[in-house]
Amino acid sequence: MQENDNEKPKKEKNLLDDILANAISSTKKYEETNAGLETKKCKGCGAARPDDTDLQYCDFCGGQFY
Ligand SMILES: [Zn+2]
Repeated sequence: MQENDNEKPKKEKNLLDDILANAISSTKKYEETNAGLETKKCKGCGAARPDDTDLQYCDFCGGQFY
């Protein structure tokens, strides 16, 4: 009855690899997104306006972005 004991370490290693790979890809994705965005900021309150919206006025203070 030692077959079950042999499977355990293998499974744990795969789980660790998955977590590591996931963390690396998440970090890379965040950096790429961040570099590609030219964020506009409100002159009034400094709130960032996401580049993929059509907002012309600040959500927070109503100031114009352009
Ligand atoms: Zn504002």
